[in-house]
Amino acid sequence: MTADRRDTTVKRGDIKDSVRNALWARTAGRCTICNRRLLGDTRTYMHSVLLAELAHNIGATDGADSPRRAYNTGLVDTESEENLLLLCHDCHKIIDHPEHIDFFPPEKLHEIKQSFERRIEMVTESGGLTRTAAVRVGGQIRGSFALASQREVAETLLGVNYLGLVETQRSGDFTCRIHGSAGGRGFWDAAQQAIDDTLSLVRQAIDSGDVEHISVFAIAPIPLLVYLGWHLDDKTPTRIFQKHRDQFVGWSWADQGDPVEFAVSTTGPTDDAQDVVLVCAVTSEVNPAYFPEGLADAPRIEVRPINVDPHPTLMSHEQSLANFAAKWRSALATAESDYPTAQRWHLIASAPTSVAIEAGRAIMRDSHRPVAVYERSSDGYEGVLAVNE
Ligand SMILES: [Zn+2]
Repeated sequence: MTADRRDTTVKRGDIKDSVRNALWARTAGRCTICNRRLLGDTRTYMHSVLLAELAHNIGATDGADSPRRAYNTGLVDTESEENLLLLCHDCHKIIDHPEHIDFFPPEKLHEIKQSFERRIEMVTESGGLTRTAAVRVGGQIRGSFALASQREVAETLLGVNYLGLVETQRSGDFTCRIHGSAGGRGFWDAAQQAIDDTLSLVRQAIDSGDVEHISVFAIAPIPLLVYLGWHLDDKTPTRIFQKHRDQFVGWSWADQGDPVEFAVSTTGPTDDAQDVVLVCAVTSEVNPAYFPEGLADAPRIEVRPINVDPHPTLMSHEQSLANFAAKWRSALATAESDYPTAQRWHLIASAPTSVAIEAGRAIMRDSHRPVAVYERSSDGYEGVLAVNE
């Protein structure tokens, strides 16, 4: 039977296109009972192919022959999506055959339909590209403004099977531009405000369901990266990229060679310490001679690479970042357990962008101390901002 497509009135027994389409999508065009792939539906004229048929669970018409009509409570809209199944011709015949009706009561067909649709959803969810929102932070580095370009972001994301939402969605591109060069109270305050503003847009997009995954591309002074990491939503899956200096791949993790391992070491007194210095020596050594007065003798917990000296291109393997993050978390746990009297932690890092962001992400609101974050200046390390206060 071919329906007249110009006839838009829905008569009894007619199935709306919206219902038809929804059913087709939920089943991925497969028979709900035998899972065979179907082509077209009975409105389409085709030879020798498996055509989809829309079967009623509770029969659409009155009368003794109408399948499962005896179960009708009068509450079911027989043309609703809930009452319809997309089936192949063979399965349709089987479930509607008078001898099989008892074997396929409405409740059973309903269960088959639900579990089939759940299965389709699970399979299709895990395939394809992961949709991600790119968060870009750019700032002045050595005198010039640096920001990952949209092209760099798109190429990097495609390389890991991510689909950037930049072009497909209103709220897919979150760009934070930090103006001015590091130095002075005003700079740090304005930069933190700029990060807050961008992340509040990200949070809105997460709350509205637009964003379920975040990819971070940031270039900024270390304290701001720590601040960014601390403010990132910890419930949303997040992947951090960094600009690599030693290769043409730009922002992609090279993942060549062996990942770097890290170790935690602790020095200094354990009694009654008010301050604890957390050192992260990844790009270069952190020299205590440059610490501010009062911190030189404070207990120090340091995370550094094993079997290799800190250097600027140490982090080219994404697993190295994961290794760092694990050791950094254990360093923070040590600070918490070994120095219960401490009022404040001080974070001094010589680290690439990805490490600085991870260092901030690991600081936990409930259990950790307020953390002052330091910037290296010509005179030594200077506390420029604080997180977790
Ligand atoms: Zn079938």
